[in-house]
Amino acid sequence: MEKIKVAIVPGAACGGCDVALANLGEKLLEATELIDIVFWPTVADFKIEDLEAVQSIDVGIFLGSIRLEDHVKKAKLLREKAKYVVAFGTCAIYGGLFGLGNLATREEILKKVYLDTPSTDNPEEKLPAQKVKIDGVDITPPALTEWNMPLNKVINVDLYVQGCPPIKDSINHFYEILASYASERKPIEKGLTIPGVKTLCDICPREKPEKIVIKSFKRVHEGKIDENLCFLAQGIICLGPITVAGCGAACISVNMPCRGCFGPPPDILDRAGKFISTIASLVKIDKEKELSDEELIRIVQEIADPVGTFHRFTFSSGIIDKKQEDV
Ligand code: SF4
Ligand code: SF4
Ligand code: SF4
Repeated sequence: MEKIKVAIVPGAACGGCDVALANLGEKLLEATELIDIVFWPTVADFKIEDLEAVQSIDVGIFLGSIRLEDHVKKAKLLREKAKYVVAFGTCAIYGGLFGLGNLATREEILKKVYLDTPSTDNPEEKLPAQKVKIDGVDITPPALTEWNMPLNKVINVDLYVQGCPPIKDSINHFYEILASYASERKPIEKGLTIPGVKTLCDICPREKPEKIVIKSFKRVHEGKIDENLCFLAQGIICLGPITVAGCGAACISVNMPCRGCFGPPPDILDRAGKFISTIASLVKIDKEKELSDEELIRIVQEIADPVGTFHRFTFSSGIIDKKQEDV
């Protein structure tokens, strides 16, 4: 049986998704019978020329978001050569935490990081994408893209594996798909999202009152938390209603609200918009008719850092996905 060729390409990534893939454990041994890894720079010294040299790839797995021109080049190369491209992990699917960088322009980020910080020693004011000499060798660090982007803003994606990083069950499911493709050439269903469409609220064990009324908002350190009651019913922001159930309620079970690291189910177009409308409908729902617009706005303004709260992992895939100029 001919092995399938798999390339694993990192973009802007923390390495957690690589570790998660390695977490296949003993299945990795079985995988070596079915899969030929032709590119995985995190585990061996592959260069872009190695990817260029591969004639064709069966499955290309992209980890991380797009934040460098180098990532754009690799993603396009992967699309050109691979029958199936997989966006693996929250950063690849939604842009991830790096998306919060879109609250500043590229020029503002470069100035802050390479010129303005007190510890910076850069007398020639060199920026990435300009040639520098290190130990006698000329090096040109790759240029930042104008904005951080999820993979599907650059190329078409066939399969999504959610999570930050994806958990073992999702990776096992993904591996079964790869194994069936390798052993039976069973086509991979395009558009599939692992783990699926349920939200965290659907599996959450906490008591959910039939009608939730939020009178004011508080953060987790601002008072005692009832371990059995829904966070929202306690006025604590929990992104469970708009987060896919993939982690088994990992944070909820240790008395912390969900921050949304798995991203939304595929049918939610704009996570922040959906959540704000959910919250707005819960704010003093029993007295809504008596509340003035100003009072409603005041209550909603109690939410600290709304972008970082609602869009911590998904800002670059939202309807508003970057800093906007005032008009
Ligand atoms: S999805 Fe999470 S674990 Fe994976 S690269 Fe991004 S930050 Fe790291
Ligand atoms: S909002 Fe959070 S605490 Fe409440 S049911 Fe949903 S996941 Fe559970
Ligand atoms: S509860 Fe939310 S923040 Fe915590 S691991 Fe699950 S999806 Fe991520």
